[in-house]
Amino acid sequence: MATIANNLQLVRDRIQRACSQVGRAPESVTLLAVSKTFPAVTVREAFDAGQRFFGENYVQEAVDKVAELADLRSQITWHLIGPLQSNKTRVVAETFDWVHTIDRLKIAQRLSEQRPAHLSPLQVCIQVNTSGEASKSGVALADALALAQAVSALPRLQLRGVMALPAPSEDPAEQRESLRQVRVAFELLRSEGLPLDTLSMGMSSDLESAVEQGSTLVRVGTALFGKR
Ligand SMILES: *Cc1c(COP(=O)(O)O)cnc(C)c1O
Repeated sequence: MATIANNLQLVRDRIQRACSQVGRAPESVTLLAVSKTFPAVTVREAFDAGQRFFGENYVQEAVDKVAELADLRSQITWHLIGPLQSNKTRVVAETFDWVHTIDRLKIAQRLSEQRPAHLSPLQVCIQVNTSGEASKSGVALADALALAQAVSALPRLQLRGVMALPAPSEDPAEQRESLRQVRVAFELLRSEGLPLDTLSMGMSSDLESAVEQGSTLVRVGTALFGKR
């Protein structure tokens, strides 16, 4: 209990320091706690320590956890940050508040059709790929605008921004360059008139660089919950 509360404080401090380095308000960065592979009881500990936004990678694991934590459902915002196959879109549309990993129009169309009428629109991000062949997930930067415009026209989705998972790099300059490219893509979409407010990038190891490059949402697992 004390450990997760402690880790949360440490991560919030890191975000705050990174923000003050570049003159940003700490409230401009949302902390998404990535709880994949950790049990519902761990999520509950983080909730008790004040955390409200949780990210999950694996659909079935997340569905089970959301059910176990049904008593907290109205207070937790659940984000899918893992890859999504078309045979899983219905349960995702019924379970999650956000999906960060839209990289094909077909998936977005299915989510829009399957989003239950009694729920508010599903909040989504386009996942962009800055790593070329090194990553199979994410739309190429050159195709991001067309996909974003098509997704933003779907009635039951609300396009909120861009997500990226740059290939890990030991070289800080290379890492920063990937993050910078994502920010440029985000700004391009905004300059085309899309009302986006979410730049989802940065994890345990690179959240400072991501905040420096304009991230508005960092997805942090290991630094909160320990090694998986
Ligand atoms: C697991 C995961 C994270 C969290 O990574 P940590 O290094 O544990 O902070 C963030 N984003 C995505 C997409 C992930 O799959």
